[in-house]
Amino acid sequence: MALRFALVIEPAASDDPRTDFDDTFRAIDPSAPALSVGELSTQRGDGIFESIGVVDGHPQETQAHLERLAHSAAICDLPAPHLEQWRRAVEIAATHAPQRGEGVVKLILSRGVEHGPAPTAWATAAAAADNTVAREQGIRVVTLDRGYGIDTPAKAPWLLLGAKTLSYAVNMAAIREAHRRGADDAVFVTSDGFVLEAPTASLIVRIDGRFVTPAPNGGILHGTTQLSLFAHLASEGFETGYATLPTRSLKDADAAWLVSSVRLAAPITAIDGMDVPVDAGLTASINRYLLSPRD
Ligand code: PLP
Repeated sequence: MALRFALVIEPAASDDPRTDFDDTFRAIDPSAPALSVGELSTQRGDGIFESIGVVDGHPQETQAHLERLAHSAAICDLPAPHLEQWRRAVEIAATHAPQRGEGVVKLILSRGVEHGPAPTAWATAAAAADNTVAREQGIRVVTLDRGYGIDTPAKAPWLLLGAKTLSYAVNMAAIREAHRRGADDAVFVTSDGFVLEAPTASLIVRIDGRFVTPAPNGGILHGTTQLSLFAHLASEGFETGYATLPTRSLKDADAAWLVSSVRLAAPITAIDGMDVPVDAGLTASINRYLLSPRD
């Protein structure tokens, strides 16, 4: 989707005492060139980002996204973001997303320009792609080996596995591979047989009536949509939890979903060619919840 709005942010130090940050923002033409050729985000994918769903002008779960931005920054040794400054950037950008229907605000914090003094940061707003088909008709997924073991994230923190970095080339390649295998999306698994996440979404499975998602113990992102949905399901009396899920346990799922901020909940209809039951009523109610204003 074409960008509707772009805001360059002059990142404030996390302990900056100001309460008004409006003079640290500069709206620019979203279709005009804006980045220096020395930008490390473009040269190396060296930066982090967040994609925030916007429904009828309301940015969803801003706090959870800002906390994850700070978490990613810490993992990547980037300067800690000033959360109030970024919250204001989200607020401004969201007013340029569609005020009826769905949009997306993206936040980017880059290492900056090579040999330059400071990180670069910007926010954009756009309309969201139409995800109705995935939400209503579901998606087929294949499991793909992520190429490391369940204990790799702890042993090799320089792989930045729990950070939402800009380096999504591998994630996009996995989705292309899934398409080559006749599926719509992928679910990454470890080489030693444990379930991780999808390239752009969290996986939730229901086994014996319990909603389970892989524990975010360093190897995967902690999904803001999954967090919000688990709180909602728990408030409705459902049992939810984190687990180290063996890949072979996927065959026991009596329902499964990929969930993320913009796609929301897409029910999985098949895993590696094996049918998975779809709970259409529950999926519709989950998506109604995810489309309601959430903070
Ligand atoms: N895991 C990965 C790798 C993702 O890219 C995303 C979202 O883009 C998610 C999980 C889900 O996160 P959220 O629900 O915060 O969108």
